[in-house]
Amino acid sequence: MKPHLHTFLQHAGQADFDDKTGAAPVAMPPVRTSTVRFKTLSHLDQAIAARQAGERAVIYGRGGMDTHRALEDVFCELEGGTQAFLVPSGMAAISLAMLSFLSQGDHVVVADCAYAPVRTLDKNVLERMGVNVSYCAPTPQACQAAIQPNTKVLYVESPGSLLMQMLDMPALAAVAQAHDLILMTDNTWGSGLIYQPLALGADVSIIAGTKYIGGHSDLMLGAVVAKNSAHAQQIEACHYALGFSVSADDVWLALRGVRTLPLRMQQSAASALQVCEFLASWPEVSAIYHPAWPHDPQHALWQRDAFGSNGLLAFSLRVDMPAARRFVDALRLFGIGFSWGGFESLVQLVEPAALANHSYWNPENGFLIRLHIGLEQVEDLVADLAQARQQLESI
Ligand SMILES: *Cc1c(COP(=O)(O)O)cnc(C)c1O
Repeated sequence: MKPHLHTFLQHAGQADFDDKTGAAPVAMPPVRTSTVRFKTLSHLDQAIAARQAGERAVIYGRGGMDTHRALEDVFCELEGGTQAFLVPSGMAAISLAMLSFLSQGDHVVVADCAYAPVRTLDKNVLERMGVNVSYCAPTPQACQAAIQPNTKVLYVESPGSLLMQMLDMPALAAVAQAHDLILMTDNTWGSGLIYQPLALGADVSIIAGTKYIGGHSDLMLGAVVAKNSAHAQQIEACHYALGFSVSADDVWLALRGVRTLPLRMQQSAASALQVCEFLASWPEVSAIYHPAWPHDPQHALWQRDAFGSNGLLAFSLRVDMPAARRFVDALRLFGIGFSWGGFESLVQLVEPAALANHSYWNPENGFLIRLHIGLEQVEDLVADLAQARQQLESI
């Protein structure tokens, strides 16, 4: 019987036993090196031949050694892919995925709910390379309508950044397949543990390991995972050419992080639901965005396709900007900051301009506040939100 994914995460990256002593540390130490030395030229020849046969043989340090291999295996297992490629950030993972498949004259359809810096990649790199990008609502119909004869890639994110709307991934995959497009998705939210887009029809999954994989707000890391080996080969060539390399120490921290990934996500998810329930009782809250919340319009899709949830939620407040700012400033346990997926709670007052491009956003709802619910005791978080709420009324 294949062990459960949670069991796999505890046994991944174990150190090998020493031949002489039969002893080993529990976890593999970070294997740091800039180069690899070979005992004889024929050992080197073997490594080169293995590489040419598509095996993971390391000839030079950039590709990483045992620590990197262990984390690549973890990403493959989490995502259900054939090969994973590590990069120094989630943003680098997005760039790697796009640059692996897009050439001059190509067109890519991007869901308008995608992580905002995708637009920066478009403006600063893709446009310059002669790649055209169209943005559309993340529905199968809208994506279908945006496809052109030269479209190569359909790029989505489920649930979407900021408003966390679940996408109908199998339906998007059907559109991609009908038009011979590569369906790429940002799966940072699910990180393979609670959502597996490759099983739902996506070809390439992108994960910012910076978030829940690392889980301790102390590293930057990304991964691109391919479902089939033809795509993996294309990504591998681009990964090599672009010179991506990740520190063994960061990889080691990520391996340590995934041991507790299931527990951390479950705890944050349970607390987030309690926070949703509390926020739902405030008359000035016009909407709550969290797919596991039963009143979220996308809840049915979440139930169908996801296996769990996490601590990320957003809510809109029908108040004026000064009141929204007073509320955020008054929070004591929520750090004002970007990012999420760590042990700590965070708050972000989302700039209205950042939502202007999201078809799912209703500006009449007021201001959007995004919370990451960390591992603090939830009663303390609720009490903090309650005391900050008093600031909505003052002045
Ligand atoms: C944070 C984030 C990224 C980028 O990750 P970095 O490691 O910060 O570059 C990509 N996608 C999503 C959905 C994110 O939340």
